Amino acid sequence: MIIVLKDADKKTIELISKEIEAKGLTPHVSKGKERTIIGAIGDERLLDIEHLKSLPGVEKVVPILAPYKLASREFHPEDTVIKVNGVEVGGEQLAIIAGPCTVESEEQLIEIAHAVKEAGASILRGSAFKPRTSPYSFQGIGEEGLKILRKAKQETGLSIETEVMDTRQVEMVTKYVDILRIGARNMQNFDLLKEVGKVNKPVLLKNGIASTMKEFLMAAEYIMSEGNKQVILCNRGVRSYESELRFPILSGLTSLLKQKTHLPVIVDPSHSTGNRSLIIPVSRAAIAEGADGLIVEVHSCPEKALCDGAQQLTPQEFAKMMAEIKRVAAAIGRKV
Ligand code: PEP
Ligand code: MN
Repeated sequence: MIIVLKDADKKTIELISKEIEAKGLTPHVSKGKERTIIGAIGDERLLDIEHLKSLPGVEKVVPILAPYKLASREFHPEDTVIKVNGVEVGGEQLAIIAGPCTVESEEQLIEIAHAVKEAGASILRGSAFKPRTSPYSFQGIGEEGLKILRKAKQETGLSIETEVMDTRQVEMVTKYVDILRIGARNMQNFDLLKEVGKVNKPVLLKNGIASTMKEFLMAAEYIMSEGNKQVILCNRGVRSYESELRFPILSGLTSLLKQKTHLPVIVDPSHSTGNRSLIIPVSRAAIAEGADGLIVEVHSCPEKALCDGAQQLTPQEFAKMMAEIKRVAAAIGRKV
């Protein structure tokens, strides 16, 4: 970290140097005519930037390292590959998570589970608890949905993932599923992040609809700092001025995430577009850009879906998507 001082007297320089030393870092003072620069050598995350900025004579404080230490590539250059019952997320093979937006009934989920498995999906998705904008909209079928997910796993052999919305649900959801999903609306629910950080199962973390990349990675850091290093990031797009697209995926963000973090990054073409006709092209683009996989909504009868019907692929369309991303994956040296 670099601390720039203006008109600083000897006392201030000494005070700051002592604060740096107290945290186990080494200060290097370089005096110029108008400015004095103090370089703090060591783990700068131990220093309180806001406090340093508040000291008299401090003009600016420039951190050198990313504030997300555990999630950062700086300290962990190799890619993290997360294993879910034999399926790898973050390896050469792309991880395709597919299934309905919401578990509606046993018949509905089992039928879709067989269809997505047949088309090559690696993991089954399905929400039992739904974060809805309106309290009057369908809220999910709760624990019953988790039981149905477990049944679908037994029947198809697919691993299962679902959303956990509240700290009070973590224990129960962990008993049933292989991956816990934190939805966009909960990306900065810090108590929930800490709670899933204590679980010994992978967490699929979606970015908030107005979050910056740094905030997203700091959310991952919350989970990892509690001990759970199995975090899968999901780029699900952000709010923009374009009302024809639900939450567009920022071009370049997946690659930037892959540069900044060693964690696997997947893309959600369903919630980002909100439009079935755009899912295949957005998926092709995501894979071309370097995503480690996709989470995509599939429903046998989207027009009858209780939630997000407009953005769910039919099983036939999903099979087409798989065939198309296979070609893109092959072109960049990855497999589906
Ligand atoms: C979901 O994946 O079911 C979902 C609600 O997505 P998001 O949290 O990204 O809106
Ligand atoms: Mn949905």
